[in-house]
Amino acid sequence: MDYFRPLSIEEALGLAQQPGRLFLAGGTDLSLHMREGRINPLGLIDLGKIAELKEIRLEGEWLEIGSMTTFYDLGQSDLIRKQAKALWQACQTMGSPQIRHQATIGGNLGNCSPAADGLPPLLALGAEVELVSARGRERVLLADLLKRTPLLESGTLIKGFLIPLQGWDSGFAKLGRRQALAIARLSTAFALKRQDGVALEVRAAFGAVGRRAFLSEPLAQSLSGRVLNESWLEDAVKGSQNAVAEALGSRASAPYKRVAVGGVVRQALKTMLGGGNHDGD
Ligand SMILES: Cc1cc2nc3c(=O)[nH]c(=O)nc-3n(C[C@H](O)[C@H](O)[C@H](O)COP(=O)(O)OP(=O)(O)OC[C@H]3O[C@@H](n4cnc5c(N)ncnc54)[C@H](O)[C@@H]3O)c2cc1C
Repeated sequence: MDYFRPLSIEEALGLAQQPGRLFLAGGTDLSLHMREGRINPLGLIDLGKIAELKEIRLEGEWLEIGSMTTFYDLGQSDLIRKQAKALWQACQTMGSPQIRHQATIGGNLGNCSPAADGLPPLLALGAEVELVSARGRERVLLADLLKRTPLLESGTLIKGFLIPLQGWDSGFAKLGRRQALAIARLSTAFALKRQDGVALEVRAAFGAVGRRAFLSEPLAQSLSGRVLNESWLEDAVKGSQNAVAEALGSRASAPYKRVAVGGVVRQALKTMLGGGNHDGD
């Protein structure tokens, strides 16, 4: 098998033109899949030397996150803590400390497991994804990208994520299997734009419910434009239970997850309603 370590995005894209080659980020998913014989690439293009892909920065009205940023770096970043609280929270509980040091946010999307912890927060925060390939560049809403099959055309590189800075508070919670290596059984992220005690706009995302993480539009609509009070909170919980039940249909896990989502949603909402995004809490 060939192994390459390009120094620039252009070089990586050139190498990816040959069939059978895959991008390698932290390798936490890829190495497992190769060991299990689920994939057998002819070449690996290691993105680890491309500094441009590891940046977290504010650019105008956007928070930009390079695809090779690790969960550890995201979890240590004040910018992420202040501007993208739900994502910051997800980084604290993802995998084990060793996994967090290796695993990247781009690889989380590239692998796109139903339980990918990075995706519900990015969805709730309204993130866009920048894709590059030999065919050119594309910016697409993550919510729209997650509806594509295949997720990425061959040779397409995830350059990074762009989160709009429009004063949203957010919160994340998950139900894991074990504390130390917590692969989510169920996760949720909420984001809220509010003014004078009114929820102007809401986004609600769920993970480990169905094939890929998703945003629930009906739930977001039912909670937007309403006073933030106890009945809003109860409707958020009930609406989440309905969204999860609908997504799971008759799957065996449906009755358990329908109940479990209540606690997970309350936890995410508590962080979100406590503010935290802008006060550095
Ligand atoms: C023990 C263990 C515990 C884990 N716990 C969790 C957990 O709690 N939560 C969670 O979400 N995940 C968990 N994972 C899964 C994994 O760590 C994550 O999905 C991680 O984010 C993958 O990132 P990576 O950098 O290792 O990707 P890699 O394994 O390098 O790549 C994954 C896939 O994405 C593609 N890819 C990578 N980068 C790019 C790019 N820039 N552009 C295009 N394609 C790309 C690769 O070709 C490959 O197909 C766990 C894994 C292990 C082994």
